[in-house]
Amino acid sequence: MSATILDGKTVAAAVLDRVRRGAASLLERTGARPGLAVVLVGDNPASEVYVRNKTRRAEECGFASRLVALPASVGRDELLARIGELADDPAVHGMLVQLPLPDHLDAREIQRAVPPDKDVDGFHPLNAGKLLLGDDDGLVPCTPLGVIALLDHYEIPLAGRDVVIVGRSNIVGKPLFHLMLSRHATVTVCHSRTRELAATCARADVLVAAVGVPGLIRGEHVRPGAVVIDVGINAVDDPAQAEDLLAGQPRRLERFRRRGRALVGDVHFGEAREKAGAITPVPGGVGPLTVALLLDNTLRAARRALGVPA
Ligand code: NAD
Repeated sequence: MSATILDGKTVAAAVLDRVRRGAASLLERTGARPGLAVVLVGDNPASEVYVRNKTRRAEECGFASRLVALPASVGRDELLARIGELADDPAVHGMLVQLPLPDHLDAREIQRAVPPDKDVDGFHPLNAGKLLLGDDDGLVPCTPLGVIALLDHYEIPLAGRDVVIVGRSNIVGKPLFHLMLSRHATVTVCHSRTRELAATCARADVLVAAVGVPGLIRGEHVRPGAVVIDVGINAVDDPAQAEDLLAGQPRRLERFRRRGRALVGDVHFGEAREKAGAITPVPGGVGPLTVALLLDNTLRAARRALGVPA
């Protein structure tokens, strides 16, 4: 069996199209564009790429986007003051502080300075609590929302299904647990201390990997016909590891041999594809959806701030 490929780029394009139309309608009704502010501290190259992607996509959707770039040496008080200015600015409807932060800053404290109604990353404790309680007026983290958008797009049902999530982080595993539960799935969350990981995963109708370990999920973890969602994004430069993880993908392997670097997920794609009914690739699976859902969250926050129903 060879699995259906769940194409995140197509789904992200559909979400972005809806967001673009929503932003145009908001502008027409209120004269205001959805405003997104991104705070970047330091010069981490991966963060710079992520931030550029967010602000560029925001502008493509007709948003007003603002980048506040601060040096790695910025002090706690100065950073909190800049966040406070954005918090008080009525043209900013959504804001986020790009992680990771330099070691001298306390990420938890900094993130909690973002007001909950502008917290488009959904990391504030008030939004986490609303998700846990099933209140639908909070803001929810973007990557888990992207997983649900992907499943919805392909009309993959969740009610009554066995879902296994590998990874219990605050930004992916835990919020996804609540979203899956609210869709009436029976949800198991696995983590670094889970015993019998393969056997547990192999019971899943829908298996989600959000771990950060390249190729951890192999063929033996996948129930025949299961839906496999790979959230992991890992850079690999070790040739032996790449030969293993890209086995069965000759074009990608060829590209690795030329470039010496490849992005892989937490799932061994070649093995899992042979058993799964449907599977996301990396790249091109969940990744593109994260930014799309960030902009969707910003549009929601803007509508709420401006008193405009969806
Ligand atoms: P994290 O490091 O915060 O959490 C990893 C989780 O995996 C932990 O709960 C840990 O218990 C679990 N884990 C670690 N080793 C394990 C093992 N051997 N067996 C079972 N569980 C194990 O990571 P995160 O921030 O949730 O990110 C996970 C992956 O998802 C990373 O590859 C990251 O790059 C990627 N990610 C992608 C997006 C996206 O936009 N697609 C967004 C966020 C994170």
